Amino acid sequence: MSTKRSADVELAVDVRCKLGESPIWIPELQQLIWVDIRNGDFYKWVRGRDDVERTFVGHSVSAVAPRSAGGYVLATRSGFAMLDDNGAFDMIAEVEADNSSNRMNDGKCDVRGRFWAGTMSEQSTPGVGSLYTLNLDRSVTKRLAGVTISNGIDWSPDGKTMYYVDSLSHGLDAFDYNEERGELGGRQRVIDVEPSAGLADGITVDEEGFIWVALHSGGAVHRYSPEGILDLRVELPVPLVTSCTFGGPNLSELYITTAVDEDNVAPLAGAVFRYQARVAGLPCRRYGN
Ligand code: CA
Repeated sequence: MSTKRSADVELAVDVRCKLGESPIWIPELQQLIWVDIRNGDFYKWVRGRDDVERTFVGHSVSAVAPRSAGGYVLATRSGFAMLDDNGAFDMIAEVEADNSSNRMNDGKCDVRGRFWAGTMSEQSTPGVGSLYTLNLDRSVTKRLAGVTISNGIDWSPDGKTMYYVDSLSHGLDAFDYNEERGELGGRQRVIDVEPSAGLADGITVDEEGFIWVALHSGGAVHRYSPEGILDLRVELPVPLVTSCTFGGPNLSELYITTAVDEDNVAPLAGAVFRYQARVAGLPCRRYGN
């Protein structure tokens, strides 16, 4: 295969998250936010600074997005919550409260300001998870059932396609997307990830519509065309690569979260890394209108 490889990855934030996830770039603050699912921590870091702000949320938190009104929306183990700028936590909608073996996982806002997040089976029981939206009126809608490990989610630049990872399906599917109603239409497999390359985890879409896929246990991020052709492989010095997002002054720096590997073979495992891309990403979307 003639896929380009890149080794131009540098350490961006010298932290050791147990399970770093859900990186989002706040352009007006030149700030990266992300979470540590295992420790229940919410992180903020301003580009160019050495210090990191870490807030213990008090709950397992698997995804975060900024709100238009200020503060943040969270996916927690058992549902959706809000976090204000002072760290005050407010649980607003439980999800699958009757199923203690599932927990919520990755999430992201769509262009209309809905927050999407799904659930996963901690025992990898097939098909017991689902994908939900927290709507603008704070109601919750189940959008998709039959999921095993709900993971990365993002949209094409024109908003007409939603890309979605169910990790144990070993790849990524595209759905026709009705932006106005938040409804999913036809589904098709776009990217297959060989199990030997790792498990597809978090994703982000760039301004050219290419999809960057973090590879858990694969030590890399792959960039794919919308047709599913592997275009670029970015290799990381740690095996558990969890998610990525574009940031920096031109939105062309790819920030990559990672997790600690149980064998402790990688000294930098759990840190946030940066890759200087040749393309820019799309601005973050916020919850609310
Ligand atoms: Ca994930």
